Amino acid sequence: MIITKSEFNKCMARLETATEPLGDIKAELYYERLKENDFNVLWKACTILLDNYKYKRFPSIGEIKDAMHDADRSIKYAKACEVGALEKEHFGEGPRCSRCEDTGWVVVNEYDEFYKQEHERAVNCSCPIGRARYDAWRTNPSKDLPPMKDRAYEYED
Ligand SMILES: [Zn+2]
Repeated sequence: MIITKSEFNKCMARLETATEPLGDIKAELYYERLKENDFNVLWKACTILLDNYKYKRFPSIGEIKDAMHDADRSIKYAKACEVGALEKEHFGEGPRCSRCEDTGWVVVNEYDEFYKQEHERAVNCSCPIGRARYDAWRTNPSKDLPPMKDRAYEYED
């Protein structure tokens, strides 16, 4: 993405409210070095600099790039939080079952008579989600599967 000249000027003008002016000659070089980015990242970088920059002089290209790096991370983090919020809205506060983390499945060790050794097996958890999965399976069991042992509910704490 390319930041347009007018977007760039808007950002620089914003910075200039708190620092010495950039000047037209330097502005050309700054635009050249910073234009290949997202406007929102540069805008956010200006906010970061306005909040944290301690000098009167105009920030260097390197200082702006550092701020853009932080801005980019901050924007990405905010987006990731939105996904988390959507999930929370959809599924409620965090996993309700600490045993299966709401997957409905837990892995148990079972002794296999045929092979004479223990092996891991996934069984339905005893929580409501595990029970729902188990009931769904019982409603329409696959003909190819051997009968599932009625022990899915046994794995209580
Ligand atoms: Zn569970």
